Amino acid sequence: MIIRGCSSQPTSAPRSCFSTSFLLPTSNRHSFKKRVTTFKHELDVVSCSFNSPSTNFRIQALEAKKLDGVISEGSRTNLQNDHLTWPSPSDKVPFWKTEFPSWDISDSGHVDIQKDSDPIHVIHVTAEMAPIAKVGGLGDVVTGLARACLMRGHTVDVYLPFYECINKQHIKELTLISTYGSYHDGSWIPTNIYRGVVFGIPVVFIEPTNHFFKGQSVYGGSYDELEAYLFFSRACLEWLQVSATQPDIIHVHEWQTAGLPLLYWDMYQYLSLQKPRIVLTIHNMEHYGECRQEQLNKCGLDGSVYATEEKAMDDRTIGHNPERLSLLKGGIVYSNAVVTVSPTYLKETLNSGWLAATLIRHRDKYFGILNGIDTAIWNPATDAFLPAKFDANQIEGKRICKLFVQRGLGLAPEAQDSAKVPLVVCITRLVAQKGLHLITNAIRHIEALNGQMIILGTAPDARVGSEFEGLAQLHNEGPSIRILQMYSEELSHMLYAAADIVLVPSIYEPCGLSQMIGMRYGAVPLVRKTGGLADTVFDMDDQSHSETANGFVFEGIDEGSLNCALDRAFSFYREKPNEWRDTVKKVLLMDNSWNNAAGKYIDVYNNVRFKHH
Ligand code: ADP
Repeated sequence: MIIRGCSSQPTSAPRSCFSTSFLLPTSNRHSFKKRVTTFKHELDVVSCSFNSPSTNFRIQALEAKKLDGVISEGSRTNLQNDHLTWPSPSDKVPFWKTEFPSWDISDSGHVDIQKDSDPIHVIHVTAEMAPIAKVGGLGDVVTGLARACLMRGHTVDVYLPFYECINKQHIKELTLISTYGSYHDGSWIPTNIYRGVVFGIPVVFIEPTNHFFKGQSVYGGSYDELEAYLFFSRACLEWLQVSATQPDIIHVHEWQTAGLPLLYWDMYQYLSLQKPRIVLTIHNMEHYGECRQEQLNKCGLDGSVYATEEKAMDDRTIGHNPERLSLLKGGIVYSNAVVTVSPTYLKETLNSGWLAATLIRHRDKYFGILNGIDTAIWNPATDAFLPAKFDANQIEGKRICKLFVQRGLGLAPEAQDSAKVPLVVCITRLVAQKGLHLITNAIRHIEALNGQMIILGTAPDARVGSEFEGLAQLHNEGPSIRILQMYSEELSHMLYAAADIVLVPSIYEPCGLSQMIGMRYGAVPLVRKTGGLADTVFDMDDQSHSETANGFVFEGIDEGSLNCALDRAFSFYREKPNEWRDTVKKVLLMDNSWNNAAGKYIDVYNNVRFKHH
């Protein structure tokens, strides 16, 4: 972790406590507005003198006095126990690691959702689930889709490996149900089954008693990942058989569980499981589950059976010695329906890449459904991690969030008289797909434009990690750039809330959640036109689509294209503050919730329910 304090910061944070709720009952709005006006003025005064070490004590005193005055009345009106302490980079406990009010959205979002007339039983078999085992968007999607289907009256379970690193804090009613044997490489591994509830979703945890899924991260443990997920896929089917559970749909995700359709149709369907039909969602076609025949043998299938072009042969290896299999391709062939996560990515995958031929062959069962976001998990009006709440009608809290993050990371707050300082945030896995050269270029260009940028990301590749470490050392003590190499769900919420602009310059992006989450928190997206980004962000300067315009879009993969979009966004922010404010409101009001997308998934489930393979 690489945060160093700006030398001009106070050495300890002012301890001003106040209600963090800026969504007040209507009767209080008038007096609230007056208080906020006073507060705004004081923020500006604070900002003007912030960078001068000699004024530190004055700032603290001023803040303590004024903020107490402004907010103490607020604390009488709402959320009595919610208190804010202004953070500083020198705090012993960084502000995103302090204690937060409990984060439980189990009961949120049920209102206004109409129940479907014909309830079905869906089991998700997945390598990730937010927030207990999340690495990227897959975890968000499983939780969001499962909750949306539950709300519509369906029965949903999630089956997940019981990773050693799983975040147990969010699992309720965790109970060991049974121990049974599941097959791996000639023996039956004693396997524990636990049940628990995560955000209202019933979850089954599968824990083999061998070394699989041990280690401090979801992926990259010191075991053979392919064999572990093949084991997990079979263990899920085995448990369904042992417990005589026959869902309507088994919904598998990515290569990790794409072996399950093969196991189902060629093995368990001949045992006792007959009812379920299989849906596969491909979230990212970057990983294919490359597999040797002998590896597939280990889960009890005969690998040689799948080594044909029509089944699971990896087309790139035809004629090689040895040829290889691809679990993802096998999953496409053997599933009753295949979904990918945006209409544009669907087109892109039919037009390029070695799997295109297989996808074209199975075109009639291949669908593009844009992901949603869970609007209860991502809700700036109730978010437990935010220092101040806000929504489209009451935006002031966003300004507090920006100042809070700037203070906490030692970034210079916006000064009243100088050019406005847009804060750009980029929250991402630091991998080539995400446009690494564009992200590093953005650092330079944003600094040159006198803006600010915060990158929150993790790099699975050590070389990429050390490149960003070098950039962090170069910039993290300055007033405008912070590069934070770590994973923090809490900080991500705060950064989306603080951001003026959320940057997603991906080279390709199947759907992308970051831009949708950013918009939900009033951050205007700046994205490259690809995949799901092209389906969700429309350029402000495209006069022909002014009603959908909601951000800034560029097409090239060169730095110049990105710079030009940044220039346009910065000018807009600085020169048209009213229009900018309207855009912030517009993105805050956009509906990217799961409800619509869940309806499309339910149509797919219903379509395949009674079909034969
Ligand atoms: P991908 O699935 O390719 O990683 P998405 O945009 O679909 O990209 O989803 C990324 C999700 O992971 C978002 O919820 C984003 O906020 C989150 N995320 C990515 N990196 C981090 C990080 N370092 N800390 C916290 N959240 C992160």
